[in-house]
Amino acid sequence: MSESIEQPFSQEEDFKPDNEVYEKASLIVQTTSSCSKSCPECYLKENPEIKKEELNQERYEESISKLNEGDTIALRGGEITTIRDWFEKFVAPALNKGLKIIIETNGYFIGKEDYQSILEKINDERISVRISFDPEHLKDLKEENVSSEFEKMAIFAEDAESAGINFGFYSLGMNSEQIQKFVRGTPLEHYINKFHPLAFYPQISAVEIKGKYLKSNGNISDRIEV
Ligand code: SF4
Repeated sequence: MSESIEQPFSQEEDFKPDNEVYEKASLIVQTTSSCSKSCPECYLKENPEIKKEELNQERYEESISKLNEGDTIALRGGEITTIRDWFEKFVAPALNKGLKIIIETNGYFIGKEDYQSILEKINDERISVRISFDPEHLKDLKEENVSSEFEKMAIFAEDAESAGINFGFYSLGMNSEQIQKFVRGTPLEHYINKFHPLAFYPQISAVEIKGKYLKSNGNISDRIEV
C-alpha cells in the first residue's frame, strides 16, 4: 500500500541524480529522435539539426547480440511508444535475448487503441517502465488539458499497480517537496510513493555511463550523444 503523503520519500532518495539507467544499463538505446511532446528544455528541441529518425532494426539487433543474458538495456527516445509496433521491434528482441529492460517513456501509449495489449505485454518481471512526469512535460499542453494528463497517468498507475507491472514516475529537476506540491489534490496523490525526485543534469553528454549509447542514427558512443 502507499505510504503516507507526509513521508513518501526516504531522505537519501531526495533530489538524487538519475543514476539508475546510467549505472545499470549496458546499452542505452535512442530508438527514435521523434517525440510526441515538445518540452521547452529538451535537447531535441534545442538542436534543430537533429533529424527525425528511427533506429534501424538490423543495427539494433546486431548491437544487442553482443550483450549477455541478464544485462540491462534502456530503451528511450524521443518517445519510443510513438513507433509503430515498438514493443515487437525493440522490447521483444531484448526479452528473447534474456535482457532486463528499462522503458523510458512520456506515457504516450496510455489510453491508445492498443493500450490493453501493451499492458499485458509489459507485465513481465524483466521490464520496468519509467514515466517522465513533471511540470516540464505539461508545458506544451493547453491549460484545459492539464488535468486530463494527471488523470491519464493515474489510470496507468492504477492498472499497472493492480497488474503487478514494475513502474515509476520520474520527475526531473524536482525534489520531494516540489513533487508533493505537484501532485497534491490530483488523482496521482495516491501514487506519491511511485515518484522519484531527480536532479537536473545541465549537460547530459557529460554524464558517465556504465555501458554504451546507441543513437537513432546508428552511432555507438561512450556518452549520451545529443
Ligand atoms: S517528452 Fe522527453 S524526449 Fe519528448 S520533448 Fe519532452 S523531454 Fe524531450
